[in-house]
Amino acid sequence: MGRAHERPHFGGFHVQAIVCPTCEVLDVKTLGMRGGPYQREGLGVATAIVRCRRCGLVFPNPFPFTPSPAALYDEPETYFRLHDSETKVRGNRLIVRRAIQLLGTRAPSVLDVGSGRGEFVRAAQLEGLTDVVGVEFSPHMVEDAQRVLGVHLVCSTLEEYAQANERLFDAVILSAVIEHVYDPDTLMRSVANSIRPGGVVYIDTPREPNLRTYVGNTFNWARRTRAVYNLSPTWPPFHVFGFNPRALRALLSKHGFQIISLSVSGNPGVLAAGPLAGRKLSGSAATVFGHVANVLRLGDNMTVWARYGGDECGQVRERFKN
Ligand SMILES: [Zn+2]
Repeated sequence: MGRAHERPHFGGFHVQAIVCPTCEVLDVKTLGMRGGPYQREGLGVATAIVRCRRCGLVFPNPFPFTPSPAALYDEPETYFRLHDSETKVRGNRLIVRRAIQLLGTRAPSVLDVGSGRGEFVRAAQLEGLTDVVGVEFSPHMVEDAQRVLGVHLVCSTLEEYAQANERLFDAVILSAVIEHVYDPDTLMRSVANSIRPGGVVYIDTPREPNLRTYVGNTFNWARRTRAVYNLSPTWPPFHVFGFNPRALRALLSKHGFQIISLSVSGNPGVLAAGPLAGRKLSGSAATVFGHVANVLRLGDNMTVWARYGGDECGQVRERFKN
């Protein structure tokens, strides 16, 4: 198949200075270094990690771009080795029910962006929805969705899909997407262009920074190393943007969305991984750590529902001008 040759190796990134995509200026504090010699297993390439002083967004700068981003995700079995499809389908059914509740309609139209192996689309079908579109830019993920769950996905980016299909959905789902894209500002503009006024968007993304990164970074600072634990820009899972409640609120309001609910949570098991792995953190200590993270709202996962205000927000939008 030659796939190994098509995949960019970790040295295949080219770096370029960027500004905060939300604020459109560069007003940042440098948190430290990540990747290569600054990563415990030597993964990826070294990049500086910064935090926008205005909105709190965390990102690498200069930013490591790759010429073919889809190739980073082209081996579903490797990329999703920690996930279980059935569990994901079950979890997604709850998201579908919440969308139905928020929209007040039994059969909303839904666009799932970055569908991966199609678990959300499958969950929506199981909940009786008939107008569900899943777009996924990795051809191997699309094949896998068809093979494993029998789910048909459209192989494209959101931008390409929106250009080709001028239609508005009741709900847009962004599950584990916004931390991966190279321009979250363009992504949210495309989401706004794909959603009807009064429609809702669901976003699921890691919370950055979180208690785990704060503790790990402080530990490194005490050891006088510049390494930090925020993001994984150049190795799996390729998280390039780190959102927190303030940063997400800023991006959403810029594009005419108002937050309905925002929750931060952490899985104690996951919190004990990363910087604390191998440091003899007992099960009970991990649980306490998880509880502390949740009390402080510094868990490492964040979910948000927001409603699109459309023109009521005074946004002048030029749809599909090209
Ligand atoms: Zn910013």
